[in-house]
Amino acid sequence: MSVPGNQTSIFHQDPTFDYPVLVRGEGIYVFDEGGRKYIDGISGAGNVTLGHGRRSIVEAMSRQAGSLAYCFSAFFTNQPALEFAERIAALAPDDLNHVYFVSGGSEAVETALKIARQYHLQRGEAQRHLVLSRWGSYHGATIGALSATGLPGMRAPFSPWLPESGHIAACHPYRCRFAGCGSRCNLSCADELESAILEFGPRNVAAFVAEPIVMAQVAAGVPPQEYFPRIRAICDRYDVLFIADEAITGFGRTGRYFGIEHWNVVPDLIAFGKGVSSGYIPLGGVIVRDAIRESFTKDGAAFAHVHTYVNNPVAMQVGLAVLDIIEKENILEHVSRTGAYLHSRAAELLRHPCVGEVRGKGLLLGIELVRDKTSREPLPANLQVHKRLHRILFDKGLAVSTTSGVADFVNGDDLRFYPPLIITRDQIDEALGMIDAGLEQLEAELERTA
Ligand code: PLP
Repeated sequence: MSVPGNQTSIFHQDPTFDYPVLVRGEGIYVFDEGGRKYIDGISGAGNVTLGHGRRSIVEAMSRQAGSLAYCFSAFFTNQPALEFAERIAALAPDDLNHVYFVSGGSEAVETALKIARQYHLQRGEAQRHLVLSRWGSYHGATIGALSATGLPGMRAPFSPWLPESGHIAACHPYRCRFAGCGSRCNLSCADELESAILEFGPRNVAAFVAEPIVMAQVAAGVPPQEYFPRIRAICDRYDVLFIADEAITGFGRTGRYFGIEHWNVVPDLIAFGKGVSSGYIPLGGVIVRDAIRESFTKDGAAFAHVHTYVNNPVAMQVGLAVLDIIEKENILEHVSRTGAYLHSRAAELLRHPCVGEVRGKGLLLGIELVRDKTSREPLPANLQVHKRLHRILFDKGLAVSTTSGVADFVNGDDLRFYPPLIITRDQIDEALGMIDAGLEQLEAELERTA
């Protein structure tokens, strides 16, 4: 049973899409009204990390809603929030010890940008207002987060509202435009941050924001080991705050609590969302280093920012239940092991003429499709390959995301698979089998229409 996107009272994002009506979820599977089963190949929207139907999370929510469902953060605090903040602070790197809770990833990035701005103001650096980020990134849909986002198609309709910002190149060795990079990154892309800071004027730049592993224009683009240390050093040189946007990579997706840990780099702020609540309730937040927090406590400066659902006790209980499961079920270790298995099996897909590169880390997989493997020529936009592949896999019972414009914002397509972190090897085989068959079907379709 599906509902056409243009024939309901819901303002669906895509009016041309037929939306199956889901009624139930169990582990990595979801079921629609007609009993059709789908593998949830992108964990809802990257958030349902611990799978569907988790009783302990549901019970924690129900218990808390029954005792105290809401608590206004401007007047009161609550035990679950105190405990959850303390546990996150203990898990976060180094002196990232203070947590501001919000309701999702966009609010988290927006809040991080505002903390960065107010921090500079409090240090007497009132000019520092500019946010730098990378082309091809996604940092959220609200205006501040969108101003950092590097997707021209999402920015264009709202460009008159977007504050001034600067974007540098993404780190993407497969399609690098810098001379001398080849397939081995020479960090010219990181050095572009320094050029941008100098161009805008070092005293004007407040922060640089980046996802440790991009899942926007580029699927699962993993920078080399030297990339984030170079970024950190440049930020330090100019007193620019480094914000890691861990909406996708946080809370276990890559086999660590935070993706940036793979680079042994300590950001000044971490924005998180999605997996923190495993999708059971809207939740996100920002983790802040001691020195930044102290700039607010020193003169008793209140943060000029609040949301109704800050520190929501039911959401806090969900977060605590999520951390309990991650610990009890050794989720990080499981992700490292099954992630290695996923990537070794997925590499077999390179046998397809249309598969240009298979990449990723942990349980984040990106498969870039090309017209020509050697030249890396992308598939032209008019073939609508992302839509075809999505339909083919959906029909087989696999919900994954497929994206267009991955080569140059117009042409090029890819497929992203980032299942719930509890996925087993057998289930990985099941999903990759569908992708393998789906790619074969796609290639046959493209041949027929050539
Ligand atoms: N940042 C990143 C890296 C994301 O992937 C997303 C969402 O996909 C966001 C921010 C925005 O999060 P939300 O959709 O929860 O507002």
